Amino acid sequence: MDFKLNAEQELIVEAASEIAQDFGPEYWREKDKNHEFPEDFWKILVQNDFPGIVIPEKYGGTGMGMLEMVLAMETLTSEGCGLAGTWFLCLTSVFGALSIVKHGNEKQKEKYLPQIAKGLEFCLALTEPDAGTNTLNTKTMAAKEGEEYIINGEKIFISGADRSKGMVLIARTTPQENVPKRTLGLSLFLVDLPNAAVEVSPIEKHGINYSRTCELYISDLRLPEENRLGEEGKGWYLILDTLNPERMSFSAASVGLGLLSITKAVEYAKQRRVFRAPIGAHQAIQFPLAEAKAKIEAARLLNYQASWLYDNGQPCGAEANMAKVAAVDAGIAAVYHAMQAFGGYGYAVEYDVERWWREINLIRLAPVTHQMALAFIGEHILGLPKSY
Ligand SMILES: Cc1cc2nc3c(=O)[nH]c(=O)nc-3n(C[C@H](O)[C@H](O)[C@H](O)COP(=O)(O)OP(=O)(O)OC[C@H]3O[C@@H](n4cnc5c(N)ncnc54)[C@H](O)[C@@H]3O)c2cc1C
Repeated sequence: MDFKLNAEQELIVEAASEIAQDFGPEYWREKDKNHEFPEDFWKILVQNDFPGIVIPEKYGGTGMGMLEMVLAMETLTSEGCGLAGTWFLCLTSVFGALSIVKHGNEKQKEKYLPQIAKGLEFCLALTEPDAGTNTLNTKTMAAKEGEEYIINGEKIFISGADRSKGMVLIARTTPQENVPKRTLGLSLFLVDLPNAAVEVSPIEKHGINYSRTCELYISDLRLPEENRLGEEGKGWYLILDTLNPERMSFSAASVGLGLLSITKAVEYAKQRRVFRAPIGAHQAIQFPLAEAKAKIEAARLLNYQASWLYDNGQPCGAEANMAKVAAVDAGIAAVYHAMQAFGGYGYAVEYDVERWWREINLIRLAPVTHQMALAFIGEHILGLPKSY
């Protein structure tokens, strides 16, 4: 791929940068402190067609791809919005739009995609309390009765479920003991929310408090067959097409949070003087920031490559997992050393580093845990025996 941005991509970066300038650190501090959804920020993203970046023009989007989405996410994050831009775009455009673009039928595309391009919020209900990382242990059951599915089960950590109007739900259509292969028997469904059969209960969490992450109790949710997304029983394979771009999104966020922290730490380290020279002259402060910068730039290119492969219909799992490992490690190092550069002020809410620290630590746990991304690399790239 050619790493020079084309004119359209330059425009996306410019637009994202302009939006980010309008939402300064005070805005995000307040939203995080008050646990308040950033309505005006989301409205501006929608007005500027950001949710539609990955939606074909035919369905009201701008017909670009994951590479352009990654550029938008990275820029919104690095120019001051922290995780927020990436977070909301991932929920709606990756979980919602891309799942439907890839696997929806014409009717589903016509129903949802133009609305998503106009800001209809989506979420993804995959994780379960007893299955955790092991999605193949999904217990939520979708039992077929005539032309309908009746769904019962429980989901945990479902971000945005409190206000989303649409949800991609993964459930079991064949009991685990009856499938010929472990990866078969799961199916995807499109669920309109709110729904009386889906009880949504927010979970108090460590950061990203401007958005809620919820537990769902699903009891006798009746869905017509037409709400199934893609082929019955093949949900595991279909959801991978959503999980790889989700990894790219959070790699973009790690790159962005890392760059944002470095920029702020460098500004501070140039002017803060407690002994003879500014603190940025001390190697103990300067070198870790320099090292994080080098590693972030490397991870960024790998993530562009993963996105480009995805957009060009080529296998991208290896690059997506490696980019995720590299980006989150480099991003965490950057925020950690930025906090050190700020000294005691790094611990004060007013300087924002503590908020970015709370945000970036999530990325080791979700979307894929760091260990599971490493297990993927060990097994599928290095050819080592499966470690679990
Ligand atoms: C804020 C937040 C938002 C989220 N949003 C969503 C969402 O919108 N939709 C959704 O479906 N999910 C969401 N998740 C869920 C997230 O993807 C899971 O938390 C994550 O996949 C890990 O599952 P778990 O918490 O059950 O951990 P577990 O599976 O219990 O794992 C616990 C620890 O053990 C390690 N471990 C487990 N098995 C192995 C192994 N074989 N080898 C090595 N280490 C192993 C893991 O890496 C992890 O560190 C969210 C989570 C959080 C915290």
